[in-house]
Amino acid sequence: MSDFKKAIKVASVLEEYRIVSEKKCFCGGKFERKEQALLQHGTKYYDKLRILCKKCGFADTLIFDINSFFKFK
Ligand SMILES: [Zn+2]
Repeated sequence: MSDFKKAIKVASVLEEYRIVSEKKCFCGGKFERKEQALLQHGTKYYDKLRILCKKCGFADTLIFDINSFFKFK
């Protein structure tokens, strides 16, 4: 499914959103956020974010490493 080793380390959820807003599709379009899901992998937690290009509809998935700030309760 997803490659956790490629997860992008972030310090906050806002940083995830900033990365999505700055990311460009190969068509030059901007992405919008779709579903967000919390994943557990061993003892670590990750945010999976589905994004969709507003221009061409290309769908992508980003995995964020949220272990620097996320504490499961
Ligand atoms: Zn696109």
